[in-house]
Amino acid sequence: MTALFDLPRHPQVPVAGSEKTFPVRRIFCVGRNYAAHAAEMGHEVDREAPFYFTKTPSATVLTGATIPYPPGTNDYHHEMELVVAIGRPAFRISKEDAMSVVYGYACGLDMTRRDRQQDGKDKRRPWDLGKDFEQSAVISPITEAKDFTVGTQKIEMSVNGTVKQVATLDELIWSIPEIINHLSGYYHLEPGDLIYTGTPSGVGAVVAGDHIHGTIDGLTAIDLTLGAAE
Ligand code: MN
Repeated sequence: MTALFDLPRHPQVPVAGSEKTFPVRRIFCVGRNYAAHAAEMGHEVDREAPFYFTKTPSATVLTGATIPYPPGTNDYHHEMELVVAIGRPAFRISKEDAMSVVYGYACGLDMTRRDRQQDGKDKRRPWDLGKDFEQSAVISPITEAKDFTVGTQKIEMSVNGTVKQVATLDELIWSIPEIINHLSGYYHLEPGDLIYTGTPSGVGAVVAGDHIHGTIDGLTAIDLTLGAAE
C-alpha cells in the first residue's frame, strides 16, 4: 500500500530554552472564562460547567509571523490567552491529579472572525467559520511547568503599542485543574493537546498593518503582524 500523497507533519511548537519541540495533536479552546469578557459579549457567566470549541492543529501559527487578513470576515478579532500544553495521557483525571499531566504553558492568540461567530450564535449554528480557520491559533514557545506556576501573573495584549486587554490569571473562572478534570471526562487527553484557556475583556478588531504584542509575566511573549488580505 502506498499513500497517494504525503500530509504535512503536525505543527511543532518550540520549547523555551531547549532544542526540543512540542508537536500539536489537538487544540481545545475554553469559552467565556473571564467574567468581564463574558459581560462584554452580552452573556452571564455559566458556573455549571465550562464549554469548548476546537481548532484544527494545522491552524497553528508560531509567534513572530506575518499572516494575511483572513477571507470571509470584516470583523477579525484578537483574543489573548494562556495556553496549557498537555504532556501525559489523562482520562477522567481528578482535579487533585490534573496538574501532573501539564507539560507547560505558552501565550496564545485565539484569532476570531467575530462576525461569523455572531452568525452562528444568531442562527444557532456551530462556530467553526468564526473560530476554526487557517492560521487562527497563534502560539509562543512553551515554558516547562517546572518553571511556571499559574498564580496572579498579569496577562496583557497591545495593538500597535496601545494596551487593549489586561487581566491577571487569578481572574480565570475555571482553573487549570478544573478544566483538565472536566475536559478529560469527554476526551482521552493525550500528549500534544493544547488548551487555550479563554480571553480577558478588551477583545476588538484588527486590520491589515496592525501589530499585536501579548505578554504573560514569566512566559515568552507573543507577536503577530497582519498583512493585506489575499
Ligand atoms: Mn478565546
